[in-house]
Amino acid sequence: MKIVDSDYFVVGSGMSGLMSALHLAAYGKVTLVTKGRLKDCNTNFAQGGICCVMDPADTFDRHARDTMIAGAWLGKTEIVHEICEHAPEGIQDLIDCGVKFAKRKDGSWDLTREGGHSARRIFHAGDITGEKCEAAMIRKIRKSSVDVREDTIVIDLVMTRRIGLKGENRCIGAYVMDKASGEIYAIRSPNTILATGGCGKVYLYTCNPDTATGDGIALAWRAGAKIENMEFIQFHPTCLYHPQAKRFLISEAVRGEGAELVNKYGRPFMQKYDPRGSLAPRDIVARSIDSEMKRTGDDCMFLDIRKKGRAYLINRFPNIYHKCMEFGIDMAKDLIPIVPAAHYTCGGIQATTDGRTSIKGLSAVGECASTGLHGANRLASNSLMEALVCARMTASRLGPHPERWGTGNGERGTGNRERGTGMPDIPAWRIGNAVPPDEAVLVSHMWDEIRRLMWDYVGIVRTNKRLARAAHRIKTLRREIREYYFRYLVTPDTLELRNLAVCAELIVRCALKRHESRGLHYTLDYPRQSKRIRQTVIEGFRG
Ligand SMILES: Cc1cc2nc3c(=O)[nH]c(=O)nc-3n(C[C@H](O)[C@H](O)[C@H](O)COP(=O)(O)OP(=O)(O)OC[C@H]3O[C@@H](n4cnc5c(N)ncnc54)[C@H](O)[C@@H]3O)c2cc1C
Repeated sequence: MKIVDSDYFVVGSGMSGLMSALHLAAYGKVTLVTKGRLKDCNTNFAQGGICCVMDPADTFDRHARDTMIAGAWLGKTEIVHEICEHAPEGIQDLIDCGVKFAKRKDGSWDLTREGGHSARRIFHAGDITGEKCEAAMIRKIRKSSVDVREDTIVIDLVMTRRIGLKGENRCIGAYVMDKASGEIYAIRSPNTILATGGCGKVYLYTCNPDTATGDGIALAWRAGAKIENMEFIQFHPTCLYHPQAKRFLISEAVRGEGAELVNKYGRPFMQKYDPRGSLAPRDIVARSIDSEMKRTGDDCMFLDIRKKGRAYLINRFPNIYHKCMEFGIDMAKDLIPIVPAAHYTCGGIQATTDGRTSIKGLSAVGECASTGLHGANRLASNSLMEALVCARMTASRLGPHPERWGTGNGERGTGNRERGTGMPDIPAWRIGNAVPPDEAVLVSHMWDEIRRLMWDYVGIVRTNKRLARAAHRIKTLRREIREYYFRYLVTPDTLELRNLAVCAELIVRCALKRHESRGLHYTLDYPRQSKRIRQTVIEGFRG
């Protein structure tokens, strides 16, 4: 089996992976793998922008306070301050990549404001900030020394204990699959950095792209890492409901400009949930839509902004107007079908701001990590800021002081600084008696079942009974997936299905452990917020 040695091994090509790789390239050989093309990631779809205090009238303390309030006080105060205060360096990193953030006529930054922010502090590049940032980082990485491997999916991390080595269990790389050729080989490195994003695809409705299957979280958990706060999944209230309109968001600004949430008969329903009606905060709106859908059995609810007239709509919401038109929905004449959709994974692999996880040799950055910034709910536009800051900090830790083989408890080897030397051999990937899969329909069926049951039982409004039902079904599905996984040769689809099922289980386990409603976790069995502040931690798999 081929083994590729590298000083640093980065998994993922969103903001956190590309930035980590760009910083680390100054210190040694970096290999970056990504399971699609470089731009296939959540980062590419970010619309709003990136938080960073820059206005002299604003302060880091105010930003930190807004973040703590949004997170229902579950965020970790020092972490929140640390990340907010380092945001300007992260923004500068993007400017150095060539990102042109919007400016006013007088040359000052055109900072915008979103829900939950007490000041204008969001850098943006129109409503395609993520795309602009991604393109700039890709241009830079293409010119760098980073060894980029697209269409390469990580199968599993290589852990020393699993390959029969004594001493402290540590990560020394991963088995990967070249999706085009099907070849499985290993990338060996004392420094593996997961930047694999969230797990939005675990829900039936999501605005996340297909890459968001929670692979990194599942890989880390299988490797024995601690996972936390997975019950906090943020739902965007208004994702366009149309079979071809995957992940298109109808901005909350549409409600801000007077759109009403209505049922299929055009009757408004928000007043019975909140006196602010359609202008209630995001979580309440998402919960109310979910409740109406469950009560009526309808597939979606609607936004009604017909009263504003065509000329106004074209001028104020050109992108949304044209996108709806593409799907045959005329905002000036029709109701816009919407559903709430999974948007952001607040929890993940327990990690410090400089990427340290509970496993030696394994770091985690970005949406797959849980640093303590978001607490029980993410403040808008804080996630790209976290990715930038934590990528920089992780590189500052690992660059000058990389993990080396031979420095751990009982590790044999030379600990030689030279790349790869002294590192243990990695056994070839074993296929056992596996045969080529002949019933792909089983995979798609199980995939659909997980996403549907997570939507129905572990969605926006939860109960103990629904969670218990989900836990039971996921247990059975995970057993069936395990059997399938060992019977047939691995494919990217089976790998993602296996990871999705682990994430589903982790969300349910965390949700069952939280006996209160806080932030994004709302349960009818414990509707109040507890006085006790507690993170939900799940120990890694010890099989
Ligand atoms: C529609 C939308 C709008 C958003 N708007 C904003 C916004 O305005 N502001 C903001 O701050 N945040 C926003 N977010 C959230 C933000 O985009 C994400 O949190 C952020 O981009 C995550 O970056 P990341 O690098 O951690 O992960 P991602 O950008 O998701 O990148 C993950 C990468 O890992 C790769 N990968 C995953 N598994 C594997 C594997 N097994 N093997 C190899 N590669 C793998 C993927 O292919 C991908 O390249 C938005 C999200 C969405 C979906």
